[in-house]
Amino acid sequence: MKEQQAIFFSPHQDDELLTMGISILKHGGCDSHVVLFVDGAQSGVKRILRNGRRCAWHDNWHLYPLTISSFVSARDSEFRDSCVALGISDSNIHIDSLRPTDGIIDVKTAKKVMMEYVGRFPGACVKTLTPYAGVRQHPDHKALGLAAVELYGEGVIKDLELFCEPYYVDDFREANPGITLYEHELDTEDEAIKKRLQKAIDSYRKWAPAEKRYAIGYHSVADYFRSLETNPRAFSHRI
Ligand SMILES: [Zn+2]
Ligand SMILES: [Zn+2]
Repeated sequence: MKEQQAIFFSPHQDDELLTMGISILKHGGCDSHVVLFVDGAQSGVKRILRNGRRCAWHDNWHLYPLTISSFVSARDSEFRDSCVALGISDSNIHIDSLRPTDGIIDVKTAKKVMMEYVGRFPGACVKTLTPYAGVRQHPDHKALGLAAVELYGEGVIKDLELFCEPYYVDDFREANPGITLYEHELDTEDEAIKKRLQKAIDSYRKWAPAEKRYAIGYHSVADYFRSLETNPRAFSHRI
C-alpha cells in the first residue's frame, strides 16, 4: 500500500516549527512535505542586523547590511535545517524561488499554490494554519487558512487539519467557543524526539555570521521559541 502523504503549508519561515512542529515530528509514518509560501523579506530583523536598531538579545549593535536576497537565503537556511530536524527529507522541502513576499498573500493566490501541490500529491492530507485565530493573527496566516477552508468546501482538499498558533490559543478560544482545539503533546520521555525538536529550534537560533547564519527567527520572536522549548505543544481543529 502507498504510504499516506501529508502536505504542511507554512506561511513563513518559522511557522512550520512554532505552530505545526509537534505534528510534523509525530508524523513519523507519513511521507510528509513542507511548502514554504513567502520569502520572509519584510522582517524587521533586517534593520537590527544592519545597525539600524540595537539588538536586545545580544545587547549590542550589529553591522551586517544584508541584501534582500542574502537575507532571504539566510532565512531559508534556518527553515531548511528546521525541516530536516523535524524529519522532512530534502526533496520534500518545497521553496519556490518565485514565491511572493510576506504581507501580500491573498486567498486567491494561496488557493492557486495549494491546488498545485494537492494536484502533485493527490490524496495527501493537508495541514496549515487556521484562519480563525482572531484579530491579531498575521494576514498571511489567515489567507492560507481561508484558502484551505475554501478548497475543502470545494472538495479539492479531502482531509484538512488547521493549526492554531500556540501564542494565539486564548484568542482563538475566545473567538470560537464552538470549536474544540485538539492539543498535540510531545512525549517528554522520548529523548530522541526531544533532541530533534531542540535541533529545529537551534536552527533558528544559530548565530554564526561567518557562515551566513544570523538567527533571524530568534531575533524576531525569541519568546515563541522559548515557550516551544519549555512547553512543546501544538493545537489543531477540523471543520
Ligand atoms: Zn508566520
Ligand atoms: Zn542580535
